[in-house]
Amino acid sequence: MRTIGLLGGMSWESSIEYERLINIEMRRRRGGSASADLIIRSYDFAAIEVAQAAGRWDELGDLLAADARRLEQAGADLVVLCTNTMHKVADRIETAIDVPFLHLGDATARAVTRAGVATVGLLGTRYTMEHDFSRDRLEANGLTVLVPDEPDRTTVHDVIYTELVRGVIDDGSRTAYLEVIERLIGRGAEGVVAGCTEIELLLGPDDVPVPWFPTTRLHAMAAVDAALDAALDDAAT
Ligand code: GLU
Repeated sequence: MRTIGLLGGMSWESSIEYERLINIEMRRRRGGSASADLIIRSYDFAAIEVAQAAGRWDELGDLLAADARRLEQAGADLVVLCTNTMHKVADRIETAIDVPFLHLGDATARAVTRAGVATVGLLGTRYTMEHDFSRDRLEANGLTVLVPDEPDRTTVHDVIYTELVRGVIDDGSRTAYLEVIERLIGRGAEGVVAGCTEIELLLGPDDVPVPWFPTTRLHAMAAVDAALDAALDDAAT
């Protein structure tokens, strides 16, 4: 089994979901008391949030690249960045390390394609919905991506930063998200990507009337696949 290095989610509300889902899946696949071999870098999200809002992406990229290197030096055989938003600086992380970096966008796109869905709605932070990095990665995998119009993007973003990263799960916000999703479906979305790793704390597949692509779960399963992938063992020898 390979050691997985996790770069926090970046709120711990999402980091622990990765840890939980990866461990549950590892136990399911390997049985008994098996669990994952993990190294976790968890952050003070208050500082991250301020740097994001100020557009200090280069600084955040340097931080994550340095931490990815530290995970590798500590023994990680692969690195997983547990947030959609910070994939904005995925290239910097990828070039900083010699071990594989498991891109969340690719794990998501594979699941969407497997489900036979071509056009997806994308929910996430303002950065994920409005900057190119996430849409581009999904589109490079052959998908058409719709993001909510305003004021829906503001609603989706604000719920993440004022509630979900603080552990607040609110029924009114769940209803507001479902209304945003209905409007995306009305514009042609055949499925919806929960493109923020805390959104799964608010909504699950049973809440949503179209195929639901929860990035935390999909990415965590890809991490387990990679950790158990014999081909990676071969490549390392
Ligand atoms: N975890 C979130 C995401 O997937 C947002 C919080 C963060 O910026 O990391 O985009």
